[in-house]
Amino acid sequence: MTKPVALVTGAQRGIGAAIAKKLGADGFALALVARSADALKTFAGELAADGIEAEAFPCDVSNAGQVEALFKSIQEKFGRLDAVVNNAGITRDGLLLRMKEEDWDSVIDINLKSVFLVSKASLRMLLKSSQGRIVNISSVVGVTGNPGQTNYAASKAGIIGFSKAMAREYAGKNLAVNVVAPGFIESDMTDHLNETQKNAALSTIPMNRLGTALDVASVVSFLVSPSASYITGQVLCVDGGMAM
Ligand code: NAP
Repeated sequence: MTKPVALVTGAQRGIGAAIAKKLGADGFALALVARSADALKTFAGELAADGIEAEAFPCDVSNAGQVEALFKSIQEKFGRLDAVVNNAGITRDGLLLRMKEEDWDSVIDINLKSVFLVSKASLRMLLKSSQGRIVNISSVVGVTGNPGQTNYAASKAGIIGFSKAMAREYAGKNLAVNVVAPGFIESDMTDHLNETQKNAALSTIPMNRLGTALDVASVVSFLVSPSASYITGQVLCVDGGMAM
C-alpha cells in the first residue's frame, strides 16, 4: 500500500462518515469500523464508487478481543497505518440520581475504554509511519460539563486526559495525539432533541447555528495533515464558540 491509511471508528454514519469521506478525499485509504456490518459495507461501496479505497471492518471497539482481531485484519489488508480517528461514541443520558450502573458502564466502555484499546493496539503500526497521528473525538461537554450527562461528560473528559498523557509519551517518536471537541452538531445524536431543546442549545452558541459533520471533519483533516506536524496534546473545540 503506497497511500497512507487511516482508521476511523464509528464510521458508518454521522460525524464518523463525514470524517471518512474527507480523509478519503485527502488521499487516505480507509479502514472503516463500526458494529453494523451491513451499513458499513454499504458505505464502503459508496466510497469506492467515488474512487476512495475503503474496507469495512465490523468491530465493537469496547471489546478487547475484537479490537485485537481488527488490527490483525488491518495488518493483513493494508500492511500499514498512519492515522487513527477514535470517533465511536454513544450517550445514555439521565440525571445522576436515576442513572443506572449499566448506563455508566456502557458509556465509559464505548466512549473511553475503546480509545485505550484502539490507541494501544494501533501503536506498533503508527510508530512505523513517518508521521503517525491519533485524533480522539471528545465533546465540548467534556470541557464544560452538562446536566444529565455525568457518564458522557466523564468519558469525554477522560479522553482529554488520556490524549494529553499519550501525547507526552509519544511526542519524541513522531506520533501526535490531539483531541477534537465538537459542540452541538447536526446528527442522529442531536436529531432526537425537540424544538425547545434545540432553541435552548442555540442560545448557548455564540455563532447561533448548530455545527455540521463537515465542520468537524475539516478539523480532523487538518490535524492528520502535514500542516499540523508541530501540534500535539491539544484540544480543539469545534463548537461555534460555546466553550471559550
Ligand atoms: P452517531 O451518529 O450516533 O454515530 C455513532 C457511530 O459510532 C456509529 O457509526 C456507530 O455505529 C458507532 N459505534 C457506536 N458504538 C460502537 C461500538 N461499540 N463499536 C464500534 N462502533 C460503535 O454519533 P455522532 O453524532 O456522529 O457522534 C460521533 C462522535 O462525536 C461521538 O464520539 C460523539 O460523542 C461525538 N460528539 C457528537 C456531537 C454531536 O452533536 N453529534 C457533539 C459532541 C461530540 P454502530 O452503531 O454500527 O456501531
